[in-house]
Amino acid sequence: MMDLTGHKYNMLTVLSFHSKTSEYNKWICSCDCGRECVKYGHLIRAGQTISCGCEKIRRSIESGKRNAASLVGKRFGRLVVIERDNGYNKHKKAMWLLKVSGKTHGASDSERF
Ligand SMILES: [Zn+2]
Repeated sequence: MMDLTGHKYNMLTVLSFHSKTSEYNKWICSCDCGRECVKYGHLIRAGQTISCGCEKIRRSIESGKRNAASLVGKRFGRLVVIERDNGYNKHKKAMWLLKVSGKTHGASDSERF
């Protein structure tokens, strides 16, 4: 078994061996974001696992924001999208601040326009 302890791969630093499943070894890792996680060694070394998962979340939020930007200023019937709200609804959909007939309407996700 290759000892990964102390090695750093992308955002993960391997702290110690965790366990062995039927085929693969799992390692306890410390992520750059400060969280600890248990990941498969072969995926870490192959670069398929690069963080505890925070990187994926960050990337999806960023791409969500990019998509989100395109709705600002758009009109949907009586609704005008003023700006992107900071939040997401429970389905991780982007939320939008809307104006209805000149009044600010509050945040809504685009499915309800
Ligand atoms: Zn992380």
